[in-house]
Amino acid sequence: MSTAATGVRQNPAHFRAAADVAAGTSGIRISGVSKTYRSRDGDVPSLRPLDFHIDEGEFFVVVGPSGCGKSTLLKMISGLLPPSSGDILVDGERVTKPHGNVGIVFQNSLLLPWRNVLNNVLLPIDMKQLSREKYLPRAMALLKMVGLEGFEKKLPWQLSGGMQQRASICRALVHDPKIMLMDEPFGALDAMTRERMNVELQRIQRETGKTVLLITHSIPEAVFLADRVLVMTERPGAIAAIYEVPLGKNRSLEAMGDPVFTELVQRIRKHFFTQSALD
Ligand code: ADP
Ligand code: MG
Repeated sequence: MSTAATGVRQNPAHFRAAADVAAGTSGIRISGVSKTYRSRDGDVPSLRPLDFHIDEGEFFVVVGPSGCGKSTLLKMISGLLPPSSGDILVDGERVTKPHGNVGIVFQNSLLLPWRNVLNNVLLPIDMKQLSREKYLPRAMALLKMVGLEGFEKKLPWQLSGGMQQRASICRALVHDPKIMLMDEPFGALDAMTRERMNVELQRIQRETGKTVLLITHSIPEAVFLADRVLVMTERPGAIAAIYEVPLGKNRSLEAMGDPVFTELVQRIRKHFFTQSALD
């Protein structure tokens, strides 16, 4: 991101941002965003310029072949990685650095090995220097929700991979961020826990109105959770299609038997018949 772009963010753009929100441009706006990694072995074009918008409070899911740039996209939205071109606006504010209004869950739990489960969950609170006392009940409730009650004092190595991942989901939620960015968060979980987490995540999202961007390689999971599913092409990734999921807001696992559900799963799967498999 150029200094000029950062500079623009301060004065006039501040008012433009307010106008954007008023004009209904809250949420996440991706405009002409591309990424080419520069490496010693040459350039790796990873994402073609993308344009789309995620509404505030929307559950937005991205599926695509391995290496098509899904994680790259998520890292750019979080501000961890600068785009090679284009603009990312969160609530009308240009993203130029990591920002506090997101909770991130990665493929690997990335828990700190020297902190116990509770202290890992409270990490964002400590980093933001918020009141531990205030957030402790929330942390405990989240741990209970994901079935980790009684494991608060355990160290990460004493938990299974699935339990570690559930702790990292609690950590992403503890400071009550407006946006949740999730990169294949349930990949390490067994099928039953994964379904339970899907239902729980849906409930949390509906109740809190959080904006969720989730990457998954499970097409049924994508359709079960999403308001809209973005299907990506192979690298360098582009948008193959965006589907609205015409199911109600509150879905039980029975929704997976709905003909509307199975039809959409099939339709999305067709995108990959001619491509290599998903992750
Ligand atoms: P996905 O999450 O869809 O599997 P990624 O976003 O991780 O894909 O990566 C997209 C492409 O960019 C891949 O081909 C990957 O090898 C490449 N890539 C990712 N990170 C780097 C990096 N730091 N340097 C060079 N190439 C990278
Ligand atoms: Mg990835």
